[in-house]
Amino acid sequence: MFEKILYPTDFSDVAMKALPYVEHLRLAGCREVVILHVIDSRSLDLLCYDPAHYRSVENDLEALARENCSFITKRLEKCGLTVRVDVRTGNPASQILKVQAREHADAIVIGSHGKSNLAEMIIGSVSERVIRNASCPVLVVKR
Ligand code: ATP
Ligand code: MN
Repeated sequence: MFEKILYPTDFSDVAMKALPYVEHLRLAGCREVVILHVIDSRSLDLLCYDPAHYRSVENDLEALARENCSFITKRLEKCGLTVRVDVRTGNPASQILKVQAREHADAIVIGSHGKSNLAEMIIGSVSERVIRNASCPVLVVKR
């Protein structure tokens, strides 16, 4: 039921708070985890006032994301989980849904909030879209 888990992260405190829940799913039969970070194409557009720099900024962000993921990978591997890292550019919610479908992930573990973490928001926009549209169970870890 929880064999393959999709863990999308923006490396925020709330996303990190969800990590121990992924680790504990090992006890519920989880074998494989796909860690997914989406480089938000809209933020990338804002960063690149010169479009000629787009590829190099994207490469830098990807390298940074992979570095951040390696620590998470180590933690999950210590629990006996098989881990894969996926870093891609696009709209975060759309990419999360696309990867879930492609990977046939059994569940998604996600934070209720992310980097913005606005006090007045009940839930972040990425989580909201994922919960609304995912075809699998979504475990939402509250801030
Ligand atoms: P908003 O983005 O709407 O301003 P927020 O940043 O507080 O609000 P979300 O972006 O919805 O909240 O983040 C909720 C969760 O979604 C995060 O804890 C993380 O698990 C996941 N997430 C958000 N952005 C990304 C991303 N770029 N790549 C992968 N996962 C993400
Ligand atoms: Mn966000």
